[in-house]
Amino acid sequence: MDIKANLQSVKNSFINPDCKLIAVSKTKPIEALKEAYEAGIRDFGENKVQEIQWKQPEMPEDTRWHMIGHLQSNKVKYIAPFVHLIHGVDSFKLLKEINKQGQKIDRVIPVLLQIYIAEEESKFGFDRVELTEMFATDEFKSLSHVEIKGLMGMATFTDNPNQIRKEFRGLKQLMEELKQMSLPSFMKLTEISMGMSGDYLIAQEEGTTMVRIGSSIFGAR
Ligand SMILES: *Cc1c(COP(=O)(O)O)cnc(C)c1O
Repeated sequence: MDIKANLQSVKNSFINPDCKLIAVSKTKPIEALKEAYEAGIRDFGENKVQEIQWKQPEMPEDTRWHMIGHLQSNKVKYIAPFVHLIHGVDSFKLLKEINKQGQKIDRVIPVLLQIYIAEEESKFGFDRVELTEMFATDEFKSLSHVEIKGLMGMATFTDNPNQIRKEFRGLKQLMEELKQMSLPSFMKLTEISMGMSGDYLIAQEEGTTMVRIGSSIFGAR
């Protein structure tokens, strides 16, 4: 597996050269991450707390760790001190726990709200109603140790590009709608995280600001 060459060809294919690349290194050995680091990658995506925990001390200090998977509330404390961005915040309960852990260590933790955009039942995320309900609460408005930088979504697992495009477009549109609302200052809404190895070009066409790419860089899992 020539990680450097893979990275080169992924980057060369980008429609938007400013789009941030998160190298999804879950299940991969530390040597693979180091190879990507040497090729210039600083942003790594992992989906298991335990795995981030053991990999983090093995990598240089300026490595940025992205938690991209479903995160259980009781595990937030283990990554709170160093995580760069939590992509998969899929419930108010989890958001409140992240805020609480941030408070404990006096750190404002950057997060994305995961939005349910797929047709599958199995995917996590807020729907529009849940978002609106959360925004209306005083508890939400008084959050002090999270910064909501934007939205994250995963398209339906399908080979129909039209379906994927429709879902990504919906996420982007939701973001634009939210930007029109009067939101608390900890909601910045500058980032969208959508697109993986199979659909990152569609995501870029639909206006994503970061893509999460694993197998096209590190090989199949
Ligand atoms: C595994 C994973 C990815 C990367 O998937 P690839 O198809 O290997 O690029 C992206 N996002 C999330 C949330 C993942 O769990």
